[in-house]
Amino acid sequence: MDSAVLLDAAVVTRCRRRVHLEHDPAAADEPRAALDATTQRRITDAAAHRRRVADRLAEHHATDWAEVPAELPAEQRVTATLALLHGQAPLVWGGLLPADPASGRRGGVDLLVRHRGGYLPVMVVRHKVTDPGGGARTSALTQLRLTAARTDPTRKVRAQSRDQLRLAHAVRLLQAAGLAARGRPTGGVIGLEADAVVWHALDVPGWPGGRTAMNEYDARFADRLAVARAAATAGPPLALPSRVTECRSCPWWPTCGPVLREARDVSMVLRGEDAVALRAAGVSTVDALAALDPAGEAPVPMAGTSMRDAVLLARAWQQDLTLVRRNRRVTVPRADVEIDVDMESFDEAGAYLWGCLLSGADIGLRRGYQAFVTWEPVPTRDEARSFAEFWRWLTAVRRRAAECGRSFAAFCYNEQAENRWLLSSAARFAGAPGVPTTAEVQEFIGSDQWVDLYGVVSAEFLCAHGKGLKTIAPAAGFAWHDPEASGENSMRWYSDAVGLGGNAPDLDQRARLLTYNSDDVRATHALRLWMSSEAVNDVPYAGDL
Ligand code: SF4
Repeated sequence: MDSAVLLDAAVVTRCRRRVHLEHDPAAADEPRAALDATTQRRITDAAAHRRRVADRLAEHHATDWAEVPAELPAEQRVTATLALLHGQAPLVWGGLLPADPASGRRGGVDLLVRHRGGYLPVMVVRHKVTDPGGGARTSALTQLRLTAARTDPTRKVRAQSRDQLRLAHAVRLLQAAGLAARGRPTGGVIGLEADAVVWHALDVPGWPGGRTAMNEYDARFADRLAVARAAATAGPPLALPSRVTECRSCPWWPTCGPVLREARDVSMVLRGEDAVALRAAGVSTVDALAALDPAGEAPVPMAGTSMRDAVLLARAWQQDLTLVRRNRRVTVPRADVEIDVDMESFDEAGAYLWGCLLSGADIGLRRGYQAFVTWEPVPTRDEARSFAEFWRWLTAVRRRAAECGRSFAAFCYNEQAENRWLLSSAARFAGAPGVPTTAEVQEFIGSDQWVDLYGVVSAEFLCAHGKGLKTIAPAAGFAWHDPEASGENSMRWYSDAVGLGGNAPDLDQRARLLTYNSDDVRATHALRLWMSSEAVNDVPYAGDL
């Protein structure tokens, strides 16, 4: 047993190679990127959210509330936590549990709630943990007890597997310290809504293969522990780099990226499980994949892509091609009157801006860019006003086009986000003046007047470097005014634009967001025009590779 390795809850959802690198003494001098601004912002916002929730809870439960000072050194925090728990304090905020060298665990818990001779863990997270519906087990924040939990007729659990795995880690730590509540392993989560505790029984076989959250956690933790211990003891590595979604924000990309590129690793064109499966079948490089017959049978079943696409993507990557035409003739839906739409939201708090570019035939309405926006920090009722104005305008354009005998279409890039906020705005602001019903929204987004350009791009092109608008629109000759334009950066700009954190609103950042949003709709417009033009035929055809 190697008592030097201690892992916190984050490892169970983390890239295995990252766990290796973080415990490999030989990797200490390997290049690492600083935390990017987005990750930094998320950490800061999550800490501020936790503090706000803690302050509210402390107010509700003044006589039962105890806090372990966060500024104490770790050893003293553990001592203070144990003193409170052994003293049977009803509610303990900010506790740090004793590390368990035997099992390799360490970690803290936002809130510990006294229950049946021990404690239940409760986490405070900055994402939504419920959706409208019924069936979640909840208790009000004024009743932080599992015995107060009821089946909630207004909320259903939103699947957040990571939360349950973190709770399972806390349960195991409490068990090791002899401080777990008797009975079923259970934990609670207070989400972004911060209006209830959602209680999770962690022994329910609701996971794939009939596993429970505890089973899943135990298996993952054992695996990560083995990876970390092998790394720490210079044993044969149990995890090698492979490009996954997490790489985008991982500090170790400056180490893994060059290794993967140099090796021409197959994960450079296929991510996730497909790359792992192909590597296991002996197809470990882009070149080996490119040499296969695109019309042949895949060497292993692939989940994320077809054999033809995989091979052609590999060939495109070999030739450093961003785009390859799937079909000889590229087609894209067009109409007499067109609107390009792009919505901006702030995390899960609200959709503060609907930007629209009206173009095409003259129907007596002003063509060009329009923004329907609220600058009151979301969540706010003023969002209902801006959303209603957007919907009224959209409806007026549709009606005028029909009256003029003109066809109409509205375009967005990746409809998931827009559809989600269209539907949720209709539900959240139901009954407010000008807000459509959910049925009206559904009628529109289900019609052929609502076109997802992302779907069209996916059907027409193979994209070796991703299908994001920022990657694809430059092929159409489009460039953003702001060199830092990105969805992630827009979150920071928004914080400043509305003065989150108590600062004065920054009007320059509002102008920056409007330019950014207007560029996004102009980008989809430019992309459509380019796809409709002869210039698109300059893109190599997949059949010629
Ligand atoms: S860069 Fe990617 S492969 Fe490397 S440790 Fe990070 S997530 Fe894992």
